[in-house]
Parts: sequence; C-alpha cells; structure tokens
Amino acid sequence: MSGKILIVDDLATNRIVLKVKLCHAHYEVVQAASAKEALRLVAVERPDLILANACLPDTTASDFLTALRRAEGNRTIPVMFLQTTDCPTERRAALSAGADDILSKPVPEALLLARLRNLLRQHHGEQELSLQIGGAQALGFAEAPPGFDAPGRIGIIARSRAGAYGLQTLLARHSAHATTVIDADRALSLSDTQPPADVYLLQITGAEAEEGLRLLAELKAAPRSRCRPIIALVEADAASLGVTVLDMGADDVITGDPDPRELILRLSAQLRRKRRGERLRAALRDGLNAAMFDPLTGAHNRRFALPFLQRLIESSQTSGESFAVMLADLDFFKQVNDRHGHAAGDEVLCAVTRHLRAHLRDGDMLARIGGEEFLIVTPATSRRRAQRTADRLCAMIAQTPIAVTAQTPPLHVTISIGVTMATPSPTGPAPGVGQLLEEADRALYAAKAQGRNMVTFCARSAA
Ligand code: GH3
Ligand code: MG
Ligand code: MG
Repeated sequence: MSGKILIVDDLATNRIVLKVKLCHAHYEVVQAASAKEALRLVAVERPDLILANACLPDTTASDFLTALRRAEGNRTIPVMFLQTTDCPTERRAALSAGADDILSKPVPEALLLARLRNLLRQHHGEQELSLQIGGAQALGFAEAPPGFDAPGRIGIIARSRAGAYGLQTLLARHSAHATTVIDADRALSLSDTQPPADVYLLQITGAEAEEGLRLLAELKAAPRSRCRPIIALVEADAASLGVTVLDMGADDVITGDPDPRELILRLSAQLRRKRRGERLRAALRDGLNAAMFDPLTGAHNRRFALPFLQRLIESSQTSGESFAVMLADLDFFKQVNDRHGHAAGDEVLCAVTRHLRAHLRDGDMLARIGGEEFLIVTPATSRRRAQRTADRLCAMIAQTPIAVTAQTPPLHVTISIGVTMATPSPTGPAPGVGQLLEEADRALYAAKAQGRNMVTFCARSAA
C-alpha cells in the first residue's frame, strides 16, 4: 500500500510509535508537532492522509479541520483523529467538523491499518475521478460544510427484525433521513427498494458473520449498489471482524452498540461522500460528452469526427469496403439569421440535424464541423448508394418545412452536398483525412457554384 501520511502529535514518543507502524506497512511518513506546523507541511508535502492526535497543543481538532479545509486543495484530504481517552463528545465534535474518522486509543494495529487503507482507498478513488475531469477544484466542487446535508435514504439490512426496527426507530428519532428495512435474503435483488438506498447500514452478527460478509461483498459488486456506501455494524466482541469488514469494502464500521448521534454523523459523512462521487461521475460523463458531441445540435463534433474518419480509412484498407464522405452546407443560411434572428437559426440547425440523423443508417456518422456545415461519413457504401443517400438527404431537407416559433410560418431551407468516395486499393496508398475533406469541400463548392440545393461528386469519384 502506498501513500504519504502526515502524523500530527506534540509527543515525540507517540509520533515514533505511529511512524514505526506506518513505515512497516510501507507508508511514507511526515511528522508535525503542532497544528500550525501541520498546516505548513500540508501545503509542501501534499499528504494523502492526516493522522492527528485529537488533543493538539495549539488548537482544537475542530479548529484544525476548519483551518485545513479553508484551502480549496485540502477539502478532501482524509483526516483521522486518535483520542487518548474515550470521549464521545469529543468524537462527535470532530465528526461534526468534518473529520473522516476518530478512534480512541488503544487502537489495535490491524484495525488502525484497515481504517487507514479504507480512507486512502476512498480518497484515491475520488482523486482519480477528479483528475480525469481536470481537477475538481476547477469545476467548482466546493461542497456544503458538514451539518448542511439534505436527508438521504438509508437502507437497513439486519438479520433480526428487532435489530432492524431498533435502528429504524433510532434514525427516525435523531435524523430526518428516510429509512427502509431490507430483508437480508432479498437485499441483493433490491427490487423492493425503489429507488435504492443512498447508504446501507448492514448489521453483521458474529454468529452469522460469514453470511453477512458474503452479502457485503455481493453488494459491493452488484451494479445497483456498488457505488453506495455501506456502514457495517458489528458486535463489541468482534473487533477482528471489523478489520475483515473494512477490507471487504465496507466504508465504515461501528463496533458495539452505536451512539445514536455518532451514527448519524457517520451516516452524513458517507452520504456526503456518495453525493460527491455522483457529482464527479456526472462531471466526467459531461466531459466525455463535451469531447464528442456538439452541445447545440447533439450531433458529433469535429474532435470526434476526424479520428472516426481516420479509423475508417484504416479499417477499410483491411475490409476492402469503400465508403463515402459528404460535406453538407445549409444554403443562404445567413439570411435565416438576418431575417428571423439567431435563435431561429439555431432551431433550424437543430431540426436539420434531427432530419439528417433520421435518414441515415445506424453506423453512419453525422457531425457538425462548422457553423452550418455537417460532415456525413457512411461506411460500407458504394458510389451508387452514396449518390442515392445524398440525393435523398438533399430532397428531404428541401421538402421538410421547419417550425421555429409559433409566430413565424415554417421555414424552408435547402442544403448543398459535396461527396467524395474512398475506395481502398490493394496497391495504392490510402487517402488521408485531409485529402478526403478537401475533395468533399471542392465538390461542395461546385454544388454551390452550380446553383445550390444539389449534390455534386468530386471529379475523382465521378461515376
Ligand atoms: P452559402 O449558401 O454560400 O453557404 O451561404 P450562407 O449564408 O449559408 O453562408 P455564409 O458562410 O455566408 O454564412 C453562414 C452563416 O451561418 C453565418 C453565421 O451567422 C451562421 N452561423 C454559423 N454558426 C451558427 C450558429 O451556431 N447558429 C446560428 N444561428 N447561425 C450560425
Ligand atoms: Mg452556408
Ligand atoms: Mg458554410
């Protein structure tokens, strides 16, 4: 396991004990003796996790967190506190201030390491996502501070009905979350929980631990539940089970009878994490869409279209199938804007895209590569078929009136299409993307010159 951990403790002996354990587990360790030094080191060392004494010499755990999280780049660094004495009030204060975990000493080494692995796994998962979308900060991912979360849906899975209803009553009394009790036998189908829970509370009792662990593993693998955090509740005398549960994918574990308010705080933390993950994944999806599609019309964009064409050139060399490249340009489109306004022009572009798409085959590619210019690539297409397709598109647009606003009568627009054929030859070199686009453009120019609303083939592709 790799990762850099910053230990914050004013007692050198405490730091040394932790350092030995962490180095043994192959973590890189940096140390600070005060909150002030820790904040300075965070900026320089960029640790993956902070492991701090809950009782710092120069500030409280909550104030340390507030100061740390003030910097945008530090918002998601996981922070775990260690308490010298078991103090529920202090634990709740730290969790309310946004601590990711707080444990009271002595913490069995195996459990400490399992908790660290768990936090690091979550953190690295989020980091990877935010890197893929170009950094979460850049996209404005600042989230509401802890304590301002909208209620979520909590799924309670327990072997005994009494246990499940006990938890349900507890949550109802102390929180605004909606709860559903899910029968352990039916948890995997999850069809009776529509929509699925945001966070699961999974009670695992020692006597049926094996079954509980299997359910945990399966929930973490099932498509519907794998992105939903799971908090495992294990019995007080099953500390080693806690380690296994964490390593099998539980996002948090509570040992013994849960302190209701601490349970709510831990639930909220998982809920926040789940929502952050959803925002990151949505941003990633949007980013991928933006990379491939034109936002106005929904057709592909140039960035997608040119590599598509390049791939088709290469695959056609192997398949031996010819294909057609068409450039379609709206005729006198400037007049549409001038007479009816830019918004009406946009509407025409969208309608033309819809009509073209509806008259193309599934494997054909339609992209808007300029203001009112579309690239159409039709794989596995003969010269004759290309002619028929282009003629049909041209006639169809000319014959289809486009409604723009309720006040304006439907508009009639036409397109001109320039076509070139790519016919692979076993001997000659394959054409390049640039060459095909240039040929189609020349053919388009000829169509415009000859009066518009017509199809012209490039001379090389002449019948
Ligand atoms: P031609 O038949 O020669 O192609 O004439 P045209 O008027 O269509 O061509 P021209 O190149 O003179 O004008 C293209 C117009 O397309 C100018 C520009 O305002 C408009 N245009 C480009 N992109 C958009 C867009 O996204 N939305 C709208 N509404 N108009 C656009
Ligand atoms: Mg035009
Ligand atoms: Mg144009």
